Amino acid sequence: MLFTNPAGAPELGCNECGCRWFDRIKNECYECGWEVPKDEIKAFADALEEYYKKTGNPP
Ligand SMILES: [Zn+2]
Repeated sequence: MLFTNPAGAPELGCNECGCRWFDRIKNECYECGWEVPKDEIKAFADALEEYYKKTGNPP
């Protein structure tokens, strides 16, 4: 699932255990090993890009 942190930046969270720690190489949750679906990764990347456009900070 997607979260927004207090700074307004999107964060990826685990659908299974609700934590926000991911192995970005394997796209797996550190806590429970849940694998992030590809469309969720895409949604996160899009949200991140949107955020960077808004703030003017490139990725
Ligand atoms: Zn998890």
